[in-house]
Amino acid sequence: MILGKILENDKKIELKIGIHCTKCGKQVPGGIKTGEKFSKTDEFKIELDEFMKNYLCGICRDKKRTKESKN
Ligand SMILES: [Zn+2]
Repeated sequence: MILGKILENDKKIELKIGIHCTKCGKQVPGGIKTGEKFSKTDEFKIELDEFMKNYLCGICRDKKRTKESKN
């Protein structure tokens, strides 16, 4: 999955970060792809932090969506 932006002339890198669904705790397979330069910025750290705090796996996201549409 891609996080943030990959700038022009930047190299795409994959970070091996264990991301877990905030609801069921399931680990997301694969790492995070981002730009090499962007990965060194504070902006990236903030974005990653927010992302990990809010991440839902596909199943939980579907459940949330179904629940929300019923209410
Ligand atoms: Zn989940």
